Amino acid sequence: MDPASRVEELRRLIEHHTERYYVLDDPEVSDAEFDGLVRELRSLEEAHPDLRTAGSPTEKVGGRASTAFAEVRHRQPMMSLDNAFSFDELVAWGKRMERYVSGQVDYVCELKIDGIACSLLYEDGRYVRGATRGNGVVGEDVTENVRTISVIPDRLTGEPPATLEVRGEIYMPASAFEELNQRQGEAGLRLFANPRNSGAGSLRQKDPKVTASRDLRFWAYQLGEIEGGPKFRRHSETLEFLKAAGLPVNPEVRTVGSLDEVFAYCDNWLEHRHDLDYEIDGVVVKVDDLAQREELGSTSKSPRWAIAFKYPPEEATTLLKDIMVSIGRTGKATPFAQLEPVKVSGSTVQLATLHNQDQVRVKDVRPGDTVTVRKAGDVIPEVVAPVLSKRPAGLPEWQFPATCPVCDGPLVRTEGESDTFCINVDCPAQLAGRVGHFASRGAMDIEGLGEKRVMQLTAAGLLADPGDIYGLTYEALMGLEGFADISARNLLDAIEASKARPLPSLLIGLSIRHLGGRGAEVLADAFGSLDRILDASEEEMATTAGVGPVIARSVSEFFALDRNRAVVDKLRAAGVNFQGAERSTLPPTLAGKAVVVTGTLESMSRERAVEAVKARGGASPGSVSKKTAYVVAGAEPGAAKITKAEACGVPVIDEAAFLRLLETGGTEPPGETA
Ligand code: NAD
Repeated sequence: MDPASRVEELRRLIEHHTERYYVLDDPEVSDAEFDGLVRELRSLEEAHPDLRTAGSPTEKVGGRASTAFAEVRHRQPMMSLDNAFSFDELVAWGKRMERYVSGQVDYVCELKIDGIACSLLYEDGRYVRGATRGNGVVGEDVTENVRTISVIPDRLTGEPPATLEVRGEIYMPASAFEELNQRQGEAGLRLFANPRNSGAGSLRQKDPKVTASRDLRFWAYQLGEIEGGPKFRRHSETLEFLKAAGLPVNPEVRTVGSLDEVFAYCDNWLEHRHDLDYEIDGVVVKVDDLAQREELGSTSKSPRWAIAFKYPPEEATTLLKDIMVSIGRTGKATPFAQLEPVKVSGSTVQLATLHNQDQVRVKDVRPGDTVTVRKAGDVIPEVVAPVLSKRPAGLPEWQFPATCPVCDGPLVRTEGESDTFCINVDCPAQLAGRVGHFASRGAMDIEGLGEKRVMQLTAAGLLADPGDIYGLTYEALMGLEGFADISARNLLDAIEASKARPLPSLLIGLSIRHLGGRGAEVLADAFGSLDRILDASEEEMATTAGVGPVIARSVSEFFALDRNRAVVDKLRAAGVNFQGAERSTLPPTLAGKAVVVTGTLESMSRERAVEAVKARGGASPGSVSKKTAYVVAGAEPGAAKITKAEACGVPVIDEAAFLRLLETGGTEPPGETA
């Protein structure tokens, strides 16, 4: 396609998606795809200046005021923001700031709240008007809807100016979004796709009573027009003023004096964005000094003194090719989507969970649909919703299978439960799942016995339960494809080493329903050995602090089954550690100390390192604080953890020092102690 036609096509597409996003609150493509279209248009316009026009979407604020609301003309335009999609782009922006303005540049770093921009007007301290951004010049009058938001004060405190306009973001907290969707699901109604769209949809209701029934919040981030009030020199002062007037200002706002500190702020929130109860899609960096802002000015679309540093998108849209069912180690049948591969949160996703039968029904996703996929942090990718406007006509609903796709046994769903199970305990998928879990890092940590190997060994009839792992021989392994002398010996060594794992790891490895890491530790501590647990009654376990009736029943039922007792016998015969007292034999050299481990260590896995710290009386939390005693940095450590350690004055040590720390409680090599 020639550039002129493509430019025209892009403009049409962008206008279409802008309408769906801002006016209908029902986008058809992910933000990442939308941003991609805008970027393509911008680069074409840069390469072909003759194709530039004043009305192009690259030159104006996206959106328009819907006719469903009265119009509000903004006294000062509500602008958009330029974006930086990488640290390089952020550096380029920062360098420009430092080149064009005189003097030291201070930056205010703010979270980029993913909600809907709103302008609030106060006259003599009374709330009189609320308006959406619209096209930046004309917005929508949502005064009464905004009035229902309890965190927005009706009256300002202190001595209010005659006129005060404030801008900020209205949003729906993540927890409120989940509750809303739960209610929708229970009522058999369609689920909302994400907090941003349900927040925007909840605000832009014709009937303010509907808005009132939704939990919406607000963070103020920009002073607009002000008359009869104090004069300010810095943006940070205006935020203090807004806070003192009773408006909610986000507590994470920071003023910093260098680009390095800006990076550290961006890095830190990239790691911690899911600790917040609201969604952010990046960080907004603003020049603090208002005189410098004047010098910099604005383009037709956005101010030059601010930039949005965008985080990698967590949502994408793609084709759902098929829905399949996987069988877990407990027999749980989990539907999952096979997708046309798509990039989300920086990695390529082609499988995504659909949780259970009801979720597929409530979300109404069907093979052949275009769907939104979400991958947030470490959470496994999930299918959020179909894009109904793209559904091909006559697409049939998906039916949950009646039989197990692996063993063909019946799939059973007990009334009142949301999960469906394959009830054939000999189902090969369940066998492999149980053995694989036993060998996994969180349990007995047998290196070289990953999912694929387990499948191979179960298919070859060598493993029917975790106890069989200890019966594997060199000869048997050598008879299998993919094994050579070294790999067979390594696996047998790893199996041998696993016999000494602590009792909680063994308990976790047995796949006892409801028994997690914490429960396993409590049981091991309270009873001291596997044999004492086997002898304990359900009542005895239930009255142990930290165990409770559900775990007690499950553990007791588990060991009552002959087949599970047979596994225990095999483990005992192999000499696997059944004793829980091991940890107390080590000197408590790290008692009361918190040691954070980041990156990859050469001599042990992260799990083993955490265990080693705990075995010496220490703790190993996942994040750094002022209370952390040491941060151990392996290869490729988390940048945010190191930055935080430096900021808090916590010593960062390497692996060799860590090993000395475990041994002696100190980090100095022998002979170097002061
Ligand atoms: P933008 O979202 O990149 O930045 C401007 C907006 O950021 C402001 O209007 C304000 O609402 C918000 N913001 C949040 N926190 C802020 C803070 N602390 N300080 C200042 N502003 C803050 O730009 P845009 O032009 O408003 O919209 C583009 C966004 O909308 C992009 O993310 C784009 O992907 C999305 N969009 C998506 C579709 C779609 O179809 N999926 C369509 C149109 C737009």
